[in-house]
Amino acid sequence: MPYLEISKNNFFYNHKIITKAITPKNSEKIAIVLKDNAYGHGITEVATLAKEVGIQTAFVKNIQEALSIAPLFKNITILYPNSLPNQSALKSALNIPHIAFCVPSLESLQDYPANTSIELKIDSGMHRNGITKEQLHEALTIIQAHNLRLKGIFTHNGYGDDLSSAFYAQNIEFLEIKKEALKLCAHFKIPRPRFHSLSSSGAMRASAFNATLPQELQDDLFRIGIAFYGYNSGSLEIPKLKPIASLFANKISTLKLEKGASIGYSGVSTLKTNGSISTYDIGYGDGLFRLREGMELYTAEGYRILPRASMDCISVESDTPKVCVFNDVRAFANAFKTIPYEILTHLHAYIPRIIV
Ligand SMILES: *Cc1c(COP(=O)(O)O)cnc(C)c1O
Repeated sequence: MPYLEISKNNFFYNHKIITKAITPKNSEKIAIVLKDNAYGHGITEVATLAKEVGIQTAFVKNIQEALSIAPLFKNITILYPNSLPNQSALKSALNIPHIAFCVPSLESLQDYPANTSIELKIDSGMHRNGITKEQLHEALTIIQAHNLRLKGIFTHNGYGDDLSSAFYAQNIEFLEIKKEALKLCAHFKIPRPRFHSLSSSGAMRASAFNATLPQELQDDLFRIGIAFYGYNSGSLEIPKLKPIASLFANKISTLKLEKGASIGYSGVSTLKTNGSISTYDIGYGDGLFRLREGMELYTAEGYRILPRASMDCISVESDTPKVCVFNDVRAFANAFKTIPYEILTHLHAYIPRIIV
């Protein structure tokens, strides 16, 4: 069976680097994003590590994820409450006061009973989810009429990786949104909600700007995902982090083959010298992307992984009992022309996660 080792030391190291780079004086402003099974790393395992370093606020994808880590955090927000509907899970979550629900539209404000904690999502220029600044007045009218608890007002700056003016324009737009929200909250006698807008790359770039704002206009939280897992989301120069996950697979069988032998589906790999080829127990059925002809990837030990990958196994130029398929997923991401996020989140939840 394949397994993922999660390095506690690397997680602690990343936490230290992230806090120092973003908010050295107020480490409680660092929130962790644990959505999608903690980006494939195992939500309970990563949540446990996050608790150990004192993180109090987490963001998750759905209700089930929120329930699974409810005792570990002071604040949990569900980013996509409707992504896995389940009435009894919803009922349980509504009864836990420190779980909040993201509301991305005026209509979805109608979904929740009185006293539910919500975080209102505002579109500040990414044009994905959220109400407009102009709808804030109506939203607060509904929130007050329905007796909802407005825990937060937030946006998502989608330009953190881009050296374009759009990143700054979105920050300025959110500043305007915050000013408008404060005016409206005073009018409706609603306590000031918490504000947040920045993910890993954005927070690394704009936390200094944030700290120059008057206290009440500052973001109260930074929603950090990929940096905790040890990667920078873009190509921008930001502090060096350490990947926390290593994927291991165990040997199924070994064959001694002669030069010229072809291996696997359609025999696309052939041996240049006599040697041993082994199969290991991870394949694209377990969520590892399917290596195919034209791709060159090596295990962490330097053994070549031979195309094509199968559903339940890969062939490797090795005969060791196990191999480390990766301890840094960037080579896979590059080979598949994608980003570490996508490779990691695909790893099936049933693969054991072991904290080391
Ligand atoms: C995923 C996500 C984040 C985290 O982004 P990273 O680039 O992984 O830091 C932050 N905010 C929201 C709303 C998200 O969906």
